[in-house]
Amino acid sequence: MKRNTFIKLLTALPFAASAMKLQEFSNLTDSFSSTEKMPMLFVGHGSPMNAIENNEFSNRWKLLGKEIPKPAAVLCISAHWLTRGTAITAMAHPKTIHDFGGFPKALFDVEYPAPGNPALAAETKQLIHSTTAELNHDWGLDHGTWSVVKQMYPDAKIPVLQLSIDFYKPAQYHYDLAKQLIALRYKGVLIIGSGNMVHNLGMVAWDKINEPEYGFDWALDINTIFKKNISEGNHQAMINYEKIGKASQLAIPTPDHYFPLIYNLGLQEKNDSVSFFNDKAVGGSLTMTSVKFS
Ligand code: ZN
Repeated sequence: MKRNTFIKLLTALPFAASAMKLQEFSNLTDSFSSTEKMPMLFVGHGSPMNAIENNEFSNRWKLLGKEIPKPAAVLCISAHWLTRGTAITAMAHPKTIHDFGGFPKALFDVEYPAPGNPALAAETKQLIHSTTAELNHDWGLDHGTWSVVKQMYPDAKIPVLQLSIDFYKPAQYHYDLAKQLIALRYKGVLIIGSGNMVHNLGMVAWDKINEPEYGFDWALDINTIFKKNISEGNHQAMINYEKIGKASQLAIPTPDHYFPLIYNLGLQEKNDSVSFFNDKAVGGSLTMTSVKFS
């Protein structure tokens, strides 16, 4: 091959790549009709008991299920599915996973038989270009997902998918990956990040766990800082959360419950309005603070 021809081919490549992107987007268009932009949620899920209790947190989730336009599907990024690499649940009938211990039988008896959507899983995989996402047939719905979605959509008719968190990658990686999923918000898919912004189980004040509201000073301080950053779209500060200081290090001893929020931030658009709900600290070192982007 002549050198000139080779260079021409190289320059043509980006165009070929974007043509492929358009093709992928049109595939998505085929299965799901265009919608107004769907709202998006970050939900502080807290105790698995919120799945079966009627309390102020779960009551708010129930209301959200009525407030938000009925989604074509739900895609949840749960703090409880940590993997090497990125995976998407792709089975037609995801099982209910009871991934906790020491809770009453009533919680283990819960089944949430929402269908999956293999076609949407395949299309979501196509949207992700920064890595090769795996179509997963083994996982299902963990409690980070079903404890919340069951309260929002108790009849379990809406398909629910999960996207895993590659726990070997830093926040910036998750932020960049999330941006690639933006088309889903315009196709009727409700994206939910499910974790807790402040989540230090080692420091929980168990003697105060049943108080309606109890937060250590550092937990309340960092909660205020997080909310300000989210409202102002200051994503870089949230990606570099460890640098905020001692309070963020106490709030996020491990990032499993924080990374779902990073997906929301990657998908936050400038014209999204931001509102907070369930904005309370519990047990000193946990917050239920949640965000609606719409
Ligand atoms: Zn959790």
